[in-house]
Amino acid sequence: MRYDCIIIGGGIIGTAVLDRLTAYRLNVLLLEAQDDVASFATRANSGIVHAGYDCEPGTLKAKYNVRGNSVLWKDAEELDVPNLKCGSLVVAREDGLKGLEELQRKGNISGVKTEILDAAATRRIEPNVASDIAYSLYAPSAGIVSPYQLAIGYADRAILNGGEVRLNSSVTAIEEIDNGYRVTAGGEMFEARAVVNCAGNNGAPVNDLVGAEHYDSVYRRGDYFVLDNTERKNVHTVIFPLPTAAGKGILVAPTADGNVIYGPTAVDTVNGDTASTADSLDALRQNVPLSFDKPAFNKCIRVYSGLRTLIGHDFVIGESKLCKNFFMAIGICSPGLTSAPAIADDLSQEIAKKLGAERKKDIVTVLPRRKTLERLLEDGKQLNELVKEDPAWGRIVCRCEKVTEAEIIAAIHSPLPATTVDAVKRRTRAGMGRCQGGFCGPRVMEIISRELGIPLEQVKKGLGAEIARYRVKEVE
Ligand SMILES: Cc1cc2nc3c(=O)[nH]c(=O)nc-3n(C[C@H](O)[C@H](O)[C@H](O)COP(=O)(O)OP(=O)(O)OC[C@H]3O[C@@H](n4cnc5c(N)ncnc54)[C@H](O)[C@@H]3O)c2cc1C
Repeated sequence: MRYDCIIIGGGIIGTAVLDRLTAYRLNVLLLEAQDDVASFATRANSGIVHAGYDCEPGTLKAKYNVRGNSVLWKDAEELDVPNLKCGSLVVAREDGLKGLEELQRKGNISGVKTEILDAAATRRIEPNVASDIAYSLYAPSAGIVSPYQLAIGYADRAILNGGEVRLNSSVTAIEEIDNGYRVTAGGEMFEARAVVNCAGNNGAPVNDLVGAEHYDSVYRRGDYFVLDNTERKNVHTVIFPLPTAAGKGILVAPTADGNVIYGPTAVDTVNGDTASTADSLDALRQNVPLSFDKPAFNKCIRVYSGLRTLIGHDFVIGESKLCKNFFMAIGICSPGLTSAPAIADDLSQEIAKKLGAERKKDIVTVLPRRKTLERLLEDGKQLNELVKEDPAWGRIVCRCEKVTEAEIIAAIHSPLPATTVDAVKRRTRAGMGRCQGGFCGPRVMEIISRELGIPLEQVKKGLGAEIARYRVKEVE
């Protein structure tokens, strides 16, 4: 099959690039190795929309962070993705004022508005900072977003605008041909005039497949605690310590879905390692109280970890000098989530120009508002009426997060269908609550099995993660 452009990788970068490219008259295909988009770094990060004061001025990180922050809020609203511009604080003790001033200086050069606050002003924004915090750097433009829902939103909108997404399609070969590339993925071959490498942690190996620039990567794991939503009342903003050479440090933050997170650590490791260790979690236990007065590790409902890839000190973005029409956005570590929409704006313009494509006249910009039981009741609907229209509104599948069968069915039939238990979880929050799917998991499996017409034992948690191996008995 022949396309104008193939994107490799369906994280936040690949889906944002797909979204932007489908605004042009181009046939675009995204190839993703996993069985859903947002399956790697994009699902396991802090979900912070950074202000951009800490990036070294003049770098791609600084440029795209600041521009991304100004674009992302509009995208999140259009795509109906949970977000909140709650601001952020970098907190410091008496001896940390110089560090805050240095951050403010960098921010000023990059055009980021910040304010240095004393102890009293800091506590008016966040009463629960640690008792010896004397100053903070306040950035009102920072906030939080659901990272995986943003990627899913980009993919959904792109599909409605004519884009194509192939899941379970790991790219294993790329060959230069006349006027483009031949890409092998999932045992099939695809051709395109241009290719964009957005393969996240596999960015450098994918470059090697085609003979584009070779890069050495450093892989850094970050572990987190997720707390029950009862802790949300204690955290009003994103609280950072002063950054170090290893990164932005261990933060305390609300999530866009109403939980609280502590993390991440920064552990240098190998590609593919996302297993939290006891040492790393201990580091969180020791560090969180240094900036936050109300640590509640006993309210932890799960731990997770994400892996970032560093290539040198900056993002690598643009066309390869060695391979014509082979583009890349790799080494996209933090603040990659915030930067994604701005990176995608620039890359899509560059690619469209090279391919001589014009913008389409009519495209979908706003996705329909997702129907949830909570929203419908808030809008004044009566439960009786809803159940009369569709009995699935009366069946609560996830009791922790109050997710109904109707919402799960909608996710399974969305533009990019959710076909696994984890994919349903990312779209509806079924399984994200206190019991972590202990109750609703089997019900979600049954609904997926019924809606997709596949045997129950073929319903997976995610790629390679089987739940039911085989039937032990048949019930009449
Ligand atoms: C711990 C941590 C905390 C972070 N916190 C923040 C934050 O708060 N704010 C912020 O702005 N940024 C943050 N980031 C950075 C942000 O998460 C990343 O920059 C971003 O998710 C990278 O997106 P990506 O699309 O490049 O990579 P990914 O999300 O990893 O996506 C790459 C995709 O490519 C696919 N792929 C790989 N190889 C192939 C192949 N051969 N064929 C087909 N598909 C392939 C993978 O399956 C994957 O889905 C954080 C990162 C980490 C790890």
